[in-house]
Amino acid sequence: MPNPHARSGDDGKARRRVGVLLPLPLTGPYDYAVPDDMDPAPGSFVLVPLGNRERIGVVWGDGAGDVADDKLKDITACLEAPPLPDVSRAFIDWVARYTVTAPGAVLRMAMSVPGALVPPKPVMGYELDPHAPEVRFTRARRRVINLLAEGPPMTLGDLTREAGVGASVIKGLASAGGLRAVELAAAPLVAEPDWQRPGPDLSPDQLSAAAELRSRIVDDGFSVTLLDGVPGSGKTEVYFEAVAETLAKGRQVLVLLPEIALTAQWLSRFRDRFGTAPASWHSELGQSKRRATWRAVATGEARVVVGARSALFLPYADLGLIVIDEEHDAAFKQEDGVVYNARDMAVVRGRLGDIPVIPVSATPSLETLTNARDGRYSGLHLPARHAGASLPDVDVIDMRAAGLPAGQWISPQMKEALRETFEAGGQALLFLNRRGYAPLTLCRKCGHRMQCPRCTAWLVEHRYSVGRGWRLQCHHCGFHMSAPETCPACEAEESFVACGPGVERLAEEVEALFPEARRAIAASDTLTGPGAAEDLVRRIEDHEVDIIIGTQIIAKGYHFPLLTLVGVVDADIGLTGGDLRAAERTYQLLYQVAGRAGRAQAPGRVLVQTFSPDHSVMKALVSGRRDDFIEAESEARRSAGMPPFGRLVALILSDRDEARVDALARELARAIPRAGEVQVLGPAPAPLALLRGRHRRRFLVMAGRGVKVQAFIRQWLGRVRVSGGSRVTVDIDPYSFL
Ligand code: ADP
Ligand code: ZN
Repeated sequence: MPNPHARSGDDGKARRRVGVLLPLPLTGPYDYAVPDDMDPAPGSFVLVPLGNRERIGVVWGDGAGDVADDKLKDITACLEAPPLPDVSRAFIDWVARYTVTAPGAVLRMAMSVPGALVPPKPVMGYELDPHAPEVRFTRARRRVINLLAEGPPMTLGDLTREAGVGASVIKGLASAGGLRAVELAAAPLVAEPDWQRPGPDLSPDQLSAAAELRSRIVDDGFSVTLLDGVPGSGKTEVYFEAVAETLAKGRQVLVLLPEIALTAQWLSRFRDRFGTAPASWHSELGQSKRRATWRAVATGEARVVVGARSALFLPYADLGLIVIDEEHDAAFKQEDGVVYNARDMAVVRGRLGDIPVIPVSATPSLETLTNARDGRYSGLHLPARHAGASLPDVDVIDMRAAGLPAGQWISPQMKEALRETFEAGGQALLFLNRRGYAPLTLCRKCGHRMQCPRCTAWLVEHRYSVGRGWRLQCHHCGFHMSAPETCPACEAEESFVACGPGVERLAEEVEALFPEARRAIAASDTLTGPGAAEDLVRRIEDHEVDIIIGTQIIAKGYHFPLLTLVGVVDADIGLTGGDLRAAERTYQLLYQVAGRAGRAQAPGRVLVQTFSPDHSVMKALVSGRRDDFIEAESEARRSAGMPPFGRLVALILSDRDEARVDALARELARAIPRAGEVQVLGPAPAPLALLRGRHRRRFLVMAGRGVKVQAFIRQWLGRVRVSGGSRVTVDIDPYSFL
């Protein structure tokens, strides 16, 4: 359709134009002319000139007509990739509006694999040439010919390996005319999951939850159904039924997991149920796998995708179900680049695609619970562990009374429980949510604390990171140094002391107490990548480990039948710091880690070391009454007007130059728009006032639930010019208050 605003070209005929969105932080699509020999559909990937470069973009719709015809440039080429579906484009626009970011920045997440936009190179192989002329046969050539006479065409690599000949033999035979090159059919990325395989026999509770979920799939259309069940109640088995139902309809499924470390065990569960692995999507995927996966999702060949939050932006040909496993997990929040919460955006993707969404958790977020209570979501509950396994008993150890000497963190009761566990042939998990050896190193002579030069943060001591030796490391920016021999402040020698424990130091204490116990440390820097996690999981399952000393990386989702004791070393860590969700998160984390105990026949036991045994979190853990805690927490949030009962937006300003960031903060403070039900706090130094060498200031916007905060933010930012070195990050619904 000709654009009404387009002016006529030289020949008097209006040129057809389209808007092309580029994966760049620009304001919106740019107009380009469509050459006569092209007819790109909306969503087509096209090559267009921008400045003096060629860029890949996506046809977003009709042109806006704001570029004169004689300035209009032609699309250079249409790429041979499946067009980005309507729903994907609508989703990108929606996310951009909601997060107050440029649509191109969101598009960039959807086309993070430019290599996938050109068809894969064909794989070439050799077959016998039926019209072969007479060729000289050596013994080596004979082996090649026999191999090909019996089987399908093979690649050069396979042929040399299987015939045991050099590449020159095969090439020689080919140039003599005995073989000819053929294109091989590409091997599929993954096999089709077999949804007709029978699952396990479900318990009556599981069965009714599964039936309910299946009916959501059969009925079609958007719905959100929270699957809320105690750890070990079989939530995974239950939602696999919904996966099977979706596959039976021929549609695709996305399962979001918060961390890749969790995928290993999940993948083997999936293989048991469906006979094959699904496609997986995460940051550690190699380039060629990324390309193949992106294309397989776009063509619909990949039927099930399991992935981290970015999997939400893949170009699904026909997505029919989204499962958000561990929906409460803060790892679903992306903090850099486009700041978004994949859990919330998954619900939006479900609504735009008109498909069911299933958040799953043993400790759903207050947001999700409130939505369920208010009837916006429906809820399913699995109250009991599978096969009669009971929930573990939780006891609190009052550390005020433990009277431990400096440098020790394992109380006598904990030690006794560990001993009993090992004697009974069980496994134990000591949970301490701190990586490294010690969170702080200071000089005993002058009190100097080793701090990151680029961040407002202490350097964390690490002693046992693989291949790195003893060093100090910043957990915010990655800065690291070897531990200095003299104090940089007073030059005292060998005066450093480590303060407080990390998992590495705790492991030393365990070694001193139980030299015979086989230990494993599980932290994100000791388990790098799915391979390492998989290996540790296997070692635990095979009982090659007696005690795991781990951070939150081992706290969630895992099922270890022999694990009967969970010891929480410092339950108070997450409670300080004034974070809005401090109590909620601590409760979730401790409940999750407690849930690792006693998942099979042997009953489990949980010991929680705390200096505040009367805190509502500890009380709820001991009584097992989650609802009491949720009730109290809801009430506190409601009366403070905090999420989910009010809205929050954080505005973080940063600059390498401190004076410039303060000037910007003052200017923004003067430009705050007047609006009802909106209150702006700040500017104040952000808790991490220095991060990666950038000075940071923060505004916090509090608004009533019904307020369109995005419009407010856009109006506000529209009044101020942000100069070159400064950056403003908008964080809608902030999770981290650093
Ligand atoms: P959750 O996700 O609720 O923590 P899982 O789905 O991981 O629970 O189930 C816990 C364990 O119990 C797993 O090993 C799972 O295979 C097993 N399980 C759950 N339900 C059944 C069932 N109906 N039949 C056989 N095994 C089951
Ligand atoms: Zn740092």
